Amino acid sequence: MDLSRAMGWLPSDQYITSPRAKPAALHAWHEPAYVEALQRIEAAQETLPDDLERFGIGSVSNPVFPEIFSRPATAAGGAILAGELLARGGVVYNPAGGTHHGMPSRANGFCYLNDPALAMLSLRHHGVRRIAYVDIDAHHCDGVAVGFAGDPDCLMISVHEEGLWPRTGLIEDDAGGNAINLPVPRGFNDAEMAHVREALILPKVAAFQPDAIVFLCGADGVEDDPLAHLSLTNNAHWDLLRGLMALDAPRLLVLGGGGYNPWTVGRLWTGVWGVLNGYTPEAYVTPDAEEVLRALTFHGNRRGRNPPEHWFNTLRDAPQEGGAIREQVRQRVEYLRQPQGMHVLRQASARV
Ligand SMILES: [Zn+2]
Repeated sequence: MDLSRAMGWLPSDQYITSPRAKPAALHAWHEPAYVEALQRIEAAQETLPDDLERFGIGSVSNPVFPEIFSRPATAAGGAILAGELLARGGVVYNPAGGTHHGMPSRANGFCYLNDPALAMLSLRHHGVRRIAYVDIDAHHCDGVAVGFAGDPDCLMISVHEEGLWPRTGLIEDDAGGNAINLPVPRGFNDAEMAHVREALILPKVAAFQPDAIVFLCGADGVEDDPLAHLSLTNNAHWDLLRGLMALDAPRLLVLGGGGYNPWTVGRLWTGVWGVLNGYTPEAYVTPDAEEVLRALTFHGNRRGRNPPEHWFNTLRDAPQEGGAIREQVRQRVEYLRQPQGMHVLRQASARV
């Protein structure tokens, strides 16, 4: 948001402060006992002996931190408000949202609440029926999948790195008929994403005729992210966003997600806001924006020691040269394009 403002792209009348969700609003998807535990742990800054087993809190991936309730509850408040704001149509961007691993009664993968699920339930509450959920975070959206498996009015598409935690979202898993899961190999590149976009994501979403598109635009699939092993540039994310916008669904909610390099996250998600508003993140950034980028730090990672100059003075990554579409990516896309593909594969593996 600082970067968007420094670019001159975020006038105050386009910005709404996210309210902190009340516990009762969170009960739309989360167990009251779990919500209570988050509040108690925030107040005490420590867990009880069974919080780890019962709620998954206190592990390496779901640590106690000072705002363990209020921070996720604020992102969730934005998600719930987005459902209300979108009742009559429009576009909302909630970059602090995207915690797609959260479970109804458990923290999971540094996600304490599941704001995408709460956003979709809020949309439903405000009369929006058919929702296309598109998730290109490097990790599979296991929490959202739990929430919407088998829902014929929800199409869930996830593109994620194969073999990466949480290792769910296998290509055979259609969640009871409404999910398209595309695990992609390490090194997944812009040309491959363009193929996935044109041959799979956009046609599937268009055919579904959604009343709303929810796009989780995780930033951990880019080459410079330290956690995943994909090789996208931020052009891939923006191009998919442009494609989704062109489908003319009456409502679009864009969420953040994962992302573990502060420069790639800031540049990508500022570019998302630019694309949503018709700005092209092509040229060099403004001096104010460069100041924001130069002030970032990334301790404890080799990428933070000698950041390349373009992380300071551009938003857009250089277009990727020479990425080939690997045969396995083509085959998986082809398989998921077929409505009966699932069936054939299951029979085939049964024979083995
Ligand atoms: Zn992720």
